[in-house]
Amino acid sequence: MTEIKKTASHVKTTIFRIDTARKITQVCCFLLLNAIVFGLGPWPVLLPIVQSPGVPQKTVSDAFSALQVMLYQRIFPWLPIASFLLTAVILGRALCGWVCPFGFIQDLLGYVKKRHTRVSLRTHGGMLKVKYGVLAAVLFISVTLSISLALGVGKSYESAIGVFAPAPFNALSPADTLFAILPRMVLMVVYVPEVLIVGILSDPLFWVRLTIMIAIIVLAVYVPRSWCRYFCPIGALLAVLNRFTFLGLKRDPLRCTRAGCRMCVDACPMMVRILELPWEKFTDSECIYCLKCVDACPTRAIKLKFP
Ligand code: SF4
Ligand code: SF4
Repeated sequence: MTEIKKTASHVKTTIFRIDTARKITQVCCFLLLNAIVFGLGPWPVLLPIVQSPGVPQKTVSDAFSALQVMLYQRIFPWLPIASFLLTAVILGRALCGWVCPFGFIQDLLGYVKKRHTRVSLRTHGGMLKVKYGVLAAVLFISVTLSISLALGVGKSYESAIGVFAPAPFNALSPADTLFAILPRMVLMVVYVPEVLIVGILSDPLFWVRLTIMIAIIVLAVYVPRSWCRYFCPIGALLAVLNRFTFLGLKRDPLRCTRAGCRMCVDACPMMVRILELPWEKFTDSECIYCLKCVDACPTRAIKLKFP
């Protein structure tokens, strides 16, 4: 009887975890965002998530790709900027935790290994800056190319950077390789294998892209959300804006036993130093609002706070 009770309570705590709701949301969003195959969309919606423009079945577009392409076309990217600002102010980086397809893939990869590699705080602090470097490089190329094209002196710059001109990030994005190029290759193997060999396999850039994608996938198996933490330029932009969000978390100091517990910190995939942040409300730039810390806390000391 006790065993039955134990099993029932285990099933109950698993089902009623916030993480279960998050996983269901991620699966639904993954299907919905690619649901043009079911006759839905495309919708005129821009979201700050990694959703490659090369994916033929997508229903919504990603704001960062739109931003790059609009700059290339010398159009002021007010729509992508509005998408980033609105989402970040209302939801912070919550779309990273609940909606982004590439975030979802990384969460799945995280299940491959039970024990993950611990990154030292020093390495983590240094690596966090890489994504800001990626963002700065992409924006630098897009903005300088746009200005030089507008001034009529950008043609040689454009031909020098070649495939990087319209959208510098997408030319190497592992999400693009995974969601757009590889499925296209599968279709080519079936229908036009000769085009595949001549057109794609002989292109050195394809092998660079494939290497980056494999490296990111392998890394995500060992370090949870490593792409989101260290490399994603969309995550970097949202991290900057996350400081101004209405959404946040609070930690009840009376419930939190703090000393020796650290279960929330250990559960956090983004290595947020929860116990060092203000308890009244914290909105760390790396927090993706996955709420794993809320689930992990044995005394239910952490809660969402809005505004
Ligand atoms: S950081 Fe980038 S890849 Fe990760 S969930 Fe956010 S948008 Fe997606
Ligand atoms: S602090 Fe909590 S909600 Fe934020 S990323 Fe870490 S576990 Fe998720």
